[in-house]
Amino acid sequence: MMPFPVIPARLEALRLRYASDDSGALADYIPELAKADPSWFGMSLCTIDGHVYDCGDSDQEFTIQSVSKPFVYALALADNGPTAMLERVGVEPSGKAFNSILLDGTNRPHNPMVNAGAIATVAMVRGVDGRFDRILETLGAFAGRTLSMDDSVYESERETGHQNRAIAHLMRTAGVFDLDVEEVLDVYFRQCSVLVTSRDLAVMAATLANGGRNPVTGRTALPSEAVGDVLSVMFTSGMYDYSGEWAFETGMPAKSGVSGGIAGLIPGQAGLGVFSPLVDDRGNSVRGTQVCQDFSKDLGFHLFRNRTDSLPPIKSVSIGSARHSYRVRSIAETQLLKHHGNRITAFELQGPWTFIAVERLMRRVGELDSGFVILETSRIGSVDEVAGALMNEFADSIAANGGTLILSGTVPTRLTGLSTVTFPTIDEALEWSEERVLSNLSPEGRPGSTVTVADSDLGRGLDADAAEALARAGRMMRIAEGSAVVHEGTAARSMYLVTSGHLTASIGDRRVASFGPGAIFGEMSFLTGARRTATVVADAACRLVEFNDIGALSPEIRERVHRNIAVVIAQRLTVANRTMTDG
Ligand code: GLU
Repeated sequence: MMPFPVIPARLEALRLRYASDDSGALADYIPELAKADPSWFGMSLCTIDGHVYDCGDSDQEFTIQSVSKPFVYALALADNGPTAMLERVGVEPSGKAFNSILLDGTNRPHNPMVNAGAIATVAMVRGVDGRFDRILETLGAFAGRTLSMDDSVYESERETGHQNRAIAHLMRTAGVFDLDVEEVLDVYFRQCSVLVTSRDLAVMAATLANGGRNPVTGRTALPSEAVGDVLSVMFTSGMYDYSGEWAFETGMPAKSGVSGGIAGLIPGQAGLGVFSPLVDDRGNSVRGTQVCQDFSKDLGFHLFRNRTDSLPPIKSVSIGSARHSYRVRSIAETQLLKHHGNRITAFELQGPWTFIAVERLMRRVGELDSGFVILETSRIGSVDEVAGALMNEFADSIAANGGTLILSGTVPTRLTGLSTVTFPTIDEALEWSEERVLSNLSPEGRPGSTVTVADSDLGRGLDADAAEALARAGRMMRIAEGSAVVHEGTAARSMYLVTSGHLTASIGDRRVASFGPGAIFGEMSFLTGARRTATVVADAACRLVEFNDIGALSPEIRERVHRNIAVVIAQRLTVANRTMTDG
């Protein structure tokens, strides 16, 4: 099929909506920046699985300017850790212009997104001579390609950047750093002159959206622990003294630069890069700001709007008295489970596993009276660190209360330590729990590990002689572990009573039923001559009684046996109906 044009068309429509707006002006305090073409307008979206949509002038290069700041802050955070960074650079929105010659009450720059904080951040990057090389390499790791510098913009800023010199000298005097001012500024001016495109900004932002791993190259650009710190300051201070209004309108962490670039993102979804060089009084791209605001509204990017549509963490709850495993049971065992099966509860879990998901699960389990708690975890998308820790505490308190936690399906790594009892399917977990519940009950009513024809469901209502005659009509069989008793698709006319051991029925690869002592199978073929619908294999050495033809028995016995078979079938249908209405 053709690639669907829906998203490219949306992006292009958005771009065209503002392409003719020529308000704002080119930044000219760095003379080289005034040489930009005011009509340039590029836009790119990069998803966290690394697909990039481009439109307009998305391959037009421009100098990154302040959009570099969060990425260099990321590098400094990785080098020093948050505590050391906070000692030198604050995280408070300044409410003042990006190039204010201003420190906060503790003589630190307000935040790393304004020039003062960004210059102080450069001084924190490790590597005396290689500082700029490391910065260039980091920006390249975020963009997913090798980047270079625009020498003329760099020289232009170095010659004219007196305001930044004033800021740097003020910080040097205040002891924010003790390096040579010109050296630090030189790295900062170079950093601002690195050439990027809107596509690069989208990939860089998507790398932050993806927890620090570049979704295009697969390379880690930033340890994931630092991502939250970077996004927090982008959110509160990334758009100069427009940051509060920006947060309100777009709800996206973002960073702009005076050359007209904006990088914004929504964590876990995508990164957006926009470039249009006409900027407003605060230094934000005019078209870029409008496009981002509409983009956020049209495509639901606001972090705090429409965020209540998450999946319920519990997809289904089944109580063991209503939902039984596929184990075929005697009438007596089925009755016992109907009464005592509420000791088992199976939860199918889904979605990202977070604090609120664990809270919901614990509350539900707390309301029940189940000693056996089955968690089917295959549909859990991810488990965050807090959820992992809380689940372990939850597992400990279940154990302390004498309960048993059972896992089924694919178990996320953070949850593998919860229990040693795990099964590939929820059905096997149910069956195991049922066996435990039954064996914890008093032995009356529970068939032992060996069942005779007389005390089986087939022999119900027969006196000793009649039961004896029925037993003689059958053929005793021993089945070795791993051998098949019946084969799917074969014609047959016999049924089996399991007197000891355990067997499993499968259709193809799918396990559909299991049988233990007292179970009867093959009764459909026995009654109708229908072909076998499943293959039955012994899980362990078994003893069975095979009934092929009961024509030689008296009419009374035959009638009773047929009635017994009817009751067995009726009971299975009842269980199946209950399970269906429960599910
Ligand atoms: N290099 C520019 C400056 O320091 C960056 C400013 C900006 O993009 O906000 O003035």
